[in-house]
Amino acid sequence: MIRTRFAPSPTGVLHIGSVRTALFCWLYARRHGGQFILRIEDTDRERSTQASVDAILDGMAWLGLRPDEGPFYQTQRFDRYREVIEQWLAEGKAYRCYCTREELEQMRAEAMARGGKPRYDGRYRNGGEPRPGVEPVIRFKNPLDGQVVVDDAVRGTVVFDNAELDDLIIARSDGTPTYNFTVVVDDADMGITHVIRGDDHLNNTPRQINMLQALDAGVPRYAHLPMINGSDGTKLSKRHGAINVLDYREMGFLPEALLNYLVRLGWSHGDQEIFSLEEMIALFDLDEVNAAASSFNFEKLKWVNHQHVMAAEPARLAPLLAEQLRRQGLDPNDGPPLEYTVGALKERGQTLQEIAERGHCYYEEFEAYDEKSAHKHLRTEAAEALRALGEALAAVPDWTEQDTEAAVAGVAERLGLKMGKVAQPLRVALVGQAVSPGIGTTLVLVGRARALTRIERALNYIAAMG
Ligand code: GLU
Repeated sequence: MIRTRFAPSPTGVLHIGSVRTALFCWLYARRHGGQFILRIEDTDRERSTQASVDAILDGMAWLGLRPDEGPFYQTQRFDRYREVIEQWLAEGKAYRCYCTREELEQMRAEAMARGGKPRYDGRYRNGGEPRPGVEPVIRFKNPLDGQVVVDDAVRGTVVFDNAELDDLIIARSDGTPTYNFTVVVDDADMGITHVIRGDDHLNNTPRQINMLQALDAGVPRYAHLPMINGSDGTKLSKRHGAINVLDYREMGFLPEALLNYLVRLGWSHGDQEIFSLEEMIALFDLDEVNAAASSFNFEKLKWVNHQHVMAAEPARLAPLLAEQLRRQGLDPNDGPPLEYTVGALKERGQTLQEIAERGHCYYEEFEAYDEKSAHKHLRTEAAEALRALGEALAAVPDWTEQDTEAAVAGVAERLGLKMGKVAQPLRVALVGQAVSPGIGTTLVLVGRARALTRIERALNYIAAMG
């Protein structure tokens, strides 16, 4: 049984790069009928916040990355960590170290002076007298020689010399366990078979493997994912687009579109760009994960989102459009049915936010006419057609696309004008500018009452300009 875990530290927003990690963990478990575990690594009490935990849970729920187990919280597992420490002390796999800060500083300085890496010299490794007044830290007895071979699913074989690794502190002098140690206890206890995480953790891996062996636990398969950079090749940051995943919800992205975009950062399947969730699950594998860094492209993400918007059911998009309209200060009930609006406008914006922006004039009065459009179409010659349109449209029995469009065509024919000569002034009268969906659709979007008032408004405008 394959078991993966996503193990965020709740110290900030849920970063888009972390979501890619979570997605790969989730997909790999789904793909192989395994289990996906969520573990909140909150042992750093100064930096961890409840707001961040909430943001992680909220973000994961929005994306549909549901854990099969968890969330587990490391702060609720301190007894277990203490138990392992006691056991290791008893077995001689760990020891108390009474070095003072000054001694460590000195070791560091000496190592640097020799041109080596700063490392602990192991002076309490084989015992040593407790020092009055010094609360000891606990260190893990790392093997002194030999190598740790990491057979990484992405990076290939990476070899570390034990001689390079010093004896890691696993509990601070106040007794709290440290990061690399808690990860190991949890990965072992939770039966994790595949550790998929950012490659900033690759250097922790040999120490973690040594500790897993001390626990007599199996060593999971590791997959260290390459960085996601910004489009300019530098570390992904706010300058490149939002990094907080919940900002994407606010901007009107669909969760499946964000996942689709993220799955392609570091993974590919031929040159296919658009994947449904089902396809991702069926196709994803660690073998095709690329070891090179990928780069984040906000425009491409928007394009991917648009493909998913076009494919989504209007009934699903309607409440999302309502939310965006509300956010933009409009009343979504004061206008056409939202499903209709979304169907009519979804080609015109890549996100629900953009689609809502295109829809303002159907939910509130628009302010001024677009100057160029008014200048071109709201002229004295158009007044007759607009008056005739007002009468014809007032009399249309069913306010449908077909019937309203037929009424417009009828007016054009009666006045001996081309359809455009009638429809364009009407369009500017209805929405304030010369672009909108087809004239029947626009009329249905505006609604009869507003349409008739706006035709009056245009006639008054023409008269005033006259
Ligand atoms: N808590 C770590 C982080 O947020 C992840 C640890 C792991 O995946 O092993 O970077």
